[in-house]
Amino acid sequence: MSKSTLLKVILLGDGGVGKSSLMNRYVTNKFDSHLFHTIGVEFLNKELEVDGHHVTLQIWDTAGQERFRSLRTPFYRGSDCCLLTFSLDDGQSFHNLANWKKEFSYYADLKEPDSFPFVVLGNKLDVPERQVSGEDARQWCRENGGHPYFETSAKDATNVASAFEEAVRRILASDDRDDHLIHTNTVDLQRKTHPTSSCC
Ligand code: GDP
Repeated sequence: MSKSTLLKVILLGDGGVGKSSLMNRYVTNKFDSHLFHTIGVEFLNKELEVDGHHVTLQIWDTAGQERFRSLRTPFYRGSDCCLLTFSLDDGQSFHNLANWKKEFSYYADLKEPDSFPFVVLGNKLDVPERQVSGEDARQWCRENGGHPYFETSAKDATNVASAFEEAVRRILASDDRDDHLIHTNTVDLQRKTHPTSSCC
């Protein structure tokens, strides 16, 4: 069996920006986040190959924000990448990115947040009523650590796979990745510490 690397990726951002929908689109190629919110799915796995590396992405969503708040530390810790997500038709969700980054950095206990692999997603590209320009979003990314930026649509799948693949590239390229990666012959989810949750 080929060697696989388990990578934990977490989607963070305001409620309603499309985190569950992005996870669902990427893993199942469907657009219906309602089910996840209803049954409380918190992570999904997806196997992929990027630049010759076989990885299993364990993608965590923050569905059920209130219930989840007390679990922030175990939820954030051990993440290999954080996808900071806002909605292009919601300026407030863009302004809140800084808070999400700060919160993640604190609870994940990042020593150097600017060298951690964050990727920024501006979702709902398909919606015509846009409140955040690509220029503003790119500027924020430049000024806040040089994070890669993708404009996505979970609805029509635009750029969703590219964004997750870039997350993998960033993780593989990050200097301190050996601190938090687990290499296994078969991916063994029990070896990472996670809060009890439902999973598919
Ligand atoms: P979450 O709270 O961040 O997980 O957001 P959800 O994934 O539950 O999505 C919130 C709402 O936005 C739902 O009604 C989704 O159908 C909708 N939505 C999510 N992504 C998109 C998208 O890319 N385009 C459009 N038009 N709607 C989206």
